[in-house]
Amino acid sequence: MTDPEKPGLRAPLQAIRGTHDILPAEARRWQAAEAVCKSHFELYGYREIRTPVFEPTELFVKGTGETSDIVTKEMYTFTDKSGRSLTLRPEYTPSIARAILEHRLDLRPEPLRFYYIGPMFRYDKPQKGRYRQFHQADVEVFGEADPAVDAELIEMAGSLLEKLGVEDVEILVNSVGCPDCRPAYSHALREKAEASRDEYCADCRRRIELNPLRLFDCKVERCGELSRGLPLVSDFLCPACAENFAEVRRRLDACGLRYRVEPRLVRGIDYYTRTTFEIVNSSAGRQNAILGGGRYDNLMKTYGGPDIPATGFAMGMERLLEAARLEIKPENFVFIAYLGEEAKNRAAWLARIFRSGGVECLLEFKDRGLKAQLSRAARLGASFAAIVGQDEVRNGRLVVKDLSTGSQFDEPVAWLEKEGEAEAALRRLFSKSSRPDFWPPAKEAKP
Ligand code: AMP
Repeated sequence: MTDPEKPGLRAPLQAIRGTHDILPAEARRWQAAEAVCKSHFELYGYREIRTPVFEPTELFVKGTGETSDIVTKEMYTFTDKSGRSLTLRPEYTPSIARAILEHRLDLRPEPLRFYYIGPMFRYDKPQKGRYRQFHQADVEVFGEADPAVDAELIEMAGSLLEKLGVEDVEILVNSVGCPDCRPAYSHALREKAEASRDEYCADCRRRIELNPLRLFDCKVERCGELSRGLPLVSDFLCPACAENFAEVRRRLDACGLRYRVEPRLVRGIDYYTRTTFEIVNSSAGRQNAILGGGRYDNLMKTYGGPDIPATGFAMGMERLLEAARLEIKPENFVFIAYLGEEAKNRAAWLARIFRSGGVECLLEFKDRGLKAQLSRAARLGASFAAIVGQDEVRNGRLVVKDLSTGSQFDEPVAWLEKEGEAEAALRRLFSKSSRPDFWPPAKEAKP
């Protein structure tokens, strides 16, 4: 990649393939999306939880599953200086399960409903929509076995995407059964796949033995064709799982949610039981799954913990941002230009008054000429430039240039002598501008 400051030169250091910088303009979109996600999750009683980025490797080997693609091929695992094997989290659920057990959150009265937004790490093949460091919004419920919770989660995910203006979404749901009925299904899959063993890719040939449900996950075209001829899990669900899945669908119907039962929707992680779901963006290319999740009632037991059922989903933030329509507030700040040493102090003081009123302002301590400062203010998209020069300091006047109209006005400002009068002076000053309500600034609603 070339360095934009020095066209033609290669930047000496570059981000690792599959990782990316989120530059300030893009970070604004991220902040907006994250704010909508967080407040949406909070509406449903979820609370934020934050756990470390790295964990003992065995946490993922046990939870995510020894035969999963994540554990076999995708983990960033390293040995620290004490010789301990650590892994950058490839997914979030095992960390939450660990935190619940470690702090015995299950013994507290608060609901075990958590969310988190942050980076995950997988040594995946980088391409559009698939990165090695990517971000997920992750939502988990522990301790609630009722299928109504699965339906509420799916509804919450659907209404979030609607709020974020994501179009062409399709909600897919399925059930992968439980440890009682899955062995018979796995056996049937294995038997059928064995018959065409040589036509499958090397990965799938391994999947036939280790976990035939994953045959449906393969992205190789021929394997996809073959998987269309495999038996469907719906024909193997035990009565309890069939009823459970019917109840999820009844609940979804009751809230008027449109969804499609996708009998080939299985998920690449070992711990799923019963409900699985995915929301895809049907207008996106190959990497079209925005989020995926389901129930994992046996995860806690695999860690030696109590029998606590669980369900949740993970949403890819990069894919969400690709599809979301976000309202980004336009720049709205005051650029404070100053001329001379004495004015520099006044300018810093003025900046404090603006900021304590909640008005963003920018003061660059570069001792430049007025023209340079004003053209910079305009280029950065400032709403106003406040000019503090030697004369203004001496005469006790503050000059403000309205950058949307170009007009300039001033006001004798008593605040130069008496700090308590700044409010009134600023109100008088901005009342002459194209935005008379600029000061006092409207108070933002508390988060
Ligand atoms: P998973 O944890 O594999 O069930 O993935 C949940 C969601 O995370 C997917 O639907 C994607 O939106 C996103 N995701 C998973 N892996 C990646 C990746 N390597 N790069 C970007 N997004 C990803």
